[in-house]
Amino acid sequence: MNYNETFSSIYNVLSTLDNEGQTAQYIPELAVIDPEKFGVSLFTNEGELFSFQDAEEKFSIQSIVKVLSLVLAYRQLGVQIWDRVGVEPSGTPFNSLVQLEYEKGIPRNPFINAGAIVVADILVGALKDPEVAFLDFLHEIIGDKSVNYSEAIAKSEKEHAFRNLALVNLMKSFGNIKNDVDRVMDFYFKICSICMTTEELVKVFSFLANEGVSPITEKGIVSQRQAKRVNALMQTCGFYDESGEFAFKVGLPGQSGVGGGILAVHPGKYTIAVWSPKLNAKGNSFLGSKFLEAFTTAIGSSIF
Ligand code: GLN
Repeated sequence: MNYNETFSSIYNVLSTLDNEGQTAQYIPELAVIDPEKFGVSLFTNEGELFSFQDAEEKFSIQSIVKVLSLVLAYRQLGVQIWDRVGVEPSGTPFNSLVQLEYEKGIPRNPFINAGAIVVADILVGALKDPEVAFLDFLHEIIGDKSVNYSEAIAKSEKEHAFRNLALVNLMKSFGNIKNDVDRVMDFYFKICSICMTTEELVKVFSFLANEGVSPITEKGIVSQRQAKRVNALMQTCGFYDESGEFAFKVGLPGQSGVGGGILAVHPGKYTIAVWSPKLNAKGNSFLGSKFLEAFTTAIGSSIF
């Protein structure tokens, strides 16, 4: 199947809509990104790549990276990881503090900020040089060295990180952060700043559509069982308090980031990534969500 025509016909319809929402205002470097950017890529398990518009332009993947940091920590710790972070949807915004106090510093899941900060703490404790090891891990998956951090975006986020600092300190008080708070947060901001194109994203994540094995390098990244569990978490938690709606309308496991990217997986078939920087009120890409809804509807592709 050639997806290019489907991409352009959906885009033509969507571009007549009011693109509501705004770029992420709380990270100044992201606030100023051109809101009209739009890119899509799809990568099949057979190795075919389809791309549309700004698919070769890098953008900050933000929370999409939380899936990759979970994968790396899951490889290190195995099932013990679930003692430190849960597997339940939170029903709260990605940066919420409310459940953490009641639930004694154990975040609901690894994709809200609190959970991803615990995962960052695990990696800081387990890896010798976490920043280098994390990029090495991505390069191993993608088979080249094209991916890097954005110092400017990491710095910009760090200077305005009041909520994230509240989260990490609250968890430290409950004993669920083992390392120095500043060290953990520097690593967290660094990995959130990673920039990729939609073409790179679909390739990096293709192992999750292929039972844990990269269709590019044919290397096993995680076991089949771990891949299944990561996909289940994306399905239930990847869009925070909009996860139910995404399952309802799109029907694929996925993860969004405040850089305007969304990554989704059809297990057994393909990975798809879309980038449009304006966010809706839940912090998920407004046009990106609409695009994926129209796409899975048009081609009749949903896991349900
Ligand atoms: N780095 C961002 C933050 O911590 C990630 C949030 C997101 O992409 N939803 O707030």
